[in-house]
Amino acid sequence: MNCLGIESTAHTFGIGIISDKGKIIYEDRKMFIPKKGSGFIPSELFNHHIKVAPKLLKNINMDEIDCIAFSQGPGIPNALNVGASIARYLSKKYKKKLIGINHCVAHIEIGKLLTDSKDPLIVYLSGGNTQIIAYNDGGYRVFGESLDIPVGNVLDVFARRLGLKMPGGPKIEKLGKEGKYIELPYVVKGMNLSFTGILTAASEKIKSNSKKDICYSLQETVFSMITEVTERGLSHTKKKEVLLVGGVASNKKLINMMNIMCSEYGVKCKVVPMKYAGDNGINIAWAGILSRNSKNKTNAIDQNWRVDQKK
Ligand code: AMP
Ligand code: MG
Repeated sequence: MNCLGIESTAHTFGIGIISDKGKIIYEDRKMFIPKKGSGFIPSELFNHHIKVAPKLLKNINMDEIDCIAFSQGPGIPNALNVGASIARYLSKKYKKKLIGINHCVAHIEIGKLLTDSKDPLIVYLSGGNTQIIAYNDGGYRVFGESLDIPVGNVLDVFARRLGLKMPGGPKIEKLGKEGKYIELPYVVKGMNLSFTGILTAASEKIKSNSKKDICYSLQETVFSMITEVTERGLSHTKKKEVLLVGGVASNKKLINMMNIMCSEYGVKCKVVPMKYAGDNGINIAWAGILSRNSKNKTNAIDQNWRVDQKK
């Protein structure tokens, strides 16, 4: 049995086909890169996804597909609607089951599949989300999260202020490999995090410090905060493994910090493979396979659909 997954929550329009045995059959994606100095403008995302979707889908043989999964939320409505509309159309035309997927669950499930994790404490870090999650009492629960902006957004906006294009995370990682530590606010509130003050403080330091030192310090600060709450999450949940997922999980410095903390704590640290860390269609297709028998009441997009909310 094969599932076609369609991803379109934000910057990326992606498709992927995976079998019920977890065999990746096909994957393709196109990421929208805004022009220098700009962030994601919903109408531009819509135009991008509408333009690339037919090109990506033209090689798909629908005879090989048994069901169609799409990102139902959370995300940017203009972007979500492109994937949802295409999925609904294909499902009707080819008489395939349609499955709406929670995008956060998809990031988690592909991480579990590809790293063979059974019951991890999940650290989900992306452009749109920052959450510490674990499976408990029949569903995913959020144990800690950002109270304001997601960590990926901090990196993207800060990079933009340095005059760098999206995605900012990899550029900051490269610039900030080594440097001198400049003090920045460190804001952990129990299991939760706050990043807006750090972004403002780091931005104010651009004029008087080297890019290298601020990037080093920004990464040092935000990743230490995330590692601290992850450790506290382990203490609460007693999980035996940590799983890093989402685009920011590609960051070597973060992985290194988490590895040190996990080895001191005596638990395993697993990281989703880089290729499937960011948004893509395979994540959605695999979540589709896992929830193919569940009953979805609605196919309408839900821009605020949290990982801990059932439909
Ligand atoms: P996603 O929303 O899951 O597709 O992830 C995209 C986010 O991951 C963006 O905010 C990127 O800047 C960020 N990202 C990608 N690669 C890295 C990296 N090497 N280090 C830090 N952040 C990264
Ligand atoms: Mg994502």
